[in-house]
Amino acid sequence: MKTEILKIRSIVSDIDKIRRAGELLRGGEVIAIPTETVYGLAANALDEEAVARIFEIKGRPQDNPLIVHISEEYDLEKLCEDIPESAYKLAHAFWPGPLTMVLKKKDVVPGIVTAGLDTVGVRCPRGRFARAIIRSAGVPLAAPSANISGRPSPTDAKHVIEDLDGRVKAIVDGGRCSVGVESTVIDMTRETPVVLRPGGITLTQLKRVLGKVDTSFEAVGEVRSPGMKYRHYAPKAPVKVLIGGLSDAAEFIKKQSVNRKVAVICFEEEAESFKETGAPVIPYGRESEPAELARGLFDALRRADESGAEEIYAREPGIGEGIELAVINRLEKAAGYNRIILDMNQ
Ligand code: AMP
Ligand code: MG
Repeated sequence: MKTEILKIRSIVSDIDKIRRAGELLRGGEVIAIPTETVYGLAANALDEEAVARIFEIKGRPQDNPLIVHISEEYDLEKLCEDIPESAYKLAHAFWPGPLTMVLKKKDVVPGIVTAGLDTVGVRCPRGRFARAIIRSAGVPLAAPSANISGRPSPTDAKHVIEDLDGRVKAIVDGGRCSVGVESTVIDMTRETPVVLRPGGITLTQLKRVLGKVDTSFEAVGEVRSPGMKYRHYAPKAPVKVLIGGLSDAAEFIKKQSVNRKVAVICFEEEAESFKETGAPVIPYGRESEPAELARGLFDALRRADESGAEEIYAREPGIGEGIELAVINRLEKAAGYNRIILDMNQ
C-alpha cells in the first residue's frame, strides 16, 4: 500500500488535507494522526471492521482496549452512561487535554473497541489538528499510539513513518507532539477514582479537582488495566535504568564501553560528563524541567537504537507528583524494570 503523507502546518492553509483525512476515516480507512500526547493510529470507533484493522496493523493484543477520541466534550454522553458528577468536573478542568476517563459504555460502542469490557476510555484531545480531523470525520475515533506494538510511542511523523509506512492509507504530519507522553488514564467507575496510567495530566492536578484519588496503578498482583501487563515502549537494544551519582555513573559507562557499544540517555545537565566516556550520549531534556523530559523521551529511545548501541543506559528523574511520574513509568517499562544501582548511599 502506498501511504499518503499529509503535511499540515496550519488548519486554515491546509484545510484540504484535514478534509482528506476526515474523508478517509469516514470511508473506513485507518490513518495516523497527530495529537498533543503522541501520534494515534485512528479509525471510526463505530466501525468494527476498521477497528479490527487497527489491531492487525499494530500487532496489538486483542484484549487491550482502545481509547475513543471525541472533538467536543459533550459527545461524551453519546458514548457513555452513568456518568458521575466527578467526571464532569474533570472534563471541565482538563478537556480538551491529555486525560482519558474510563466510564460505563453505551451499546453504540462496539465490543472490539473495549476488548469486551463494559467500560470505555474516552478522551477529548487538546491538539488542534486532532480535533479538526475528528470534527471533519464526523465520528468518534478509536486510536491507540501509532507504533508497532511494544515499540516506543511516536512523537513525530518520522517515527510513524519508521514503523508504519506502507501499512496505513495515510499519515498526517503535524510536527512534534507538545506533551510527548500518553494521556493519564483514570477509572471513574469506582467509588474513589483510580489512576490506571500516569500521563499528561498530573496527580497534583487530579487531586486539586477530585480531592482523593487512588494512585496504586502498579499494584502488584492485580491487573486493573489490560494495557499494564504488556511490554511497552521498548527500543531494539535492551535498556537499563542507571541509578547513582553522576561521577559513579560516568565511570560505570566508561567500563561498559570497553567491550561493547553502549549508549546513554541522560539529562542535559549531565551530557558533558557522559561525553567524556566516549559513548554516544543522547540528552532528552533538563532534569529541572520534567516536561522537557516527557517531550524528548520516546525520540531518545529511538535515537539510541540508531546509534547502533547493543545496550542502552538511561537516567531517570526523581519521583514526585508531576509529569516526571509518567516519564519514570515509561522508562521503567521500556527497561522491563531492569535497574542498576551504583551507590546504595545515593
Ligand atoms: P494506548 O492506546 O496504547 O495508549 O493504551 C491505552 C491504555 O488505556 C491501555 O493501557 C488500556 O489498557 C487502557 N484502557 C483503555 N480502555 C480501558 C478500559 N475500558 N478499562 C481500563 N483500561 C483501559
Ligand atoms: Mg501505546
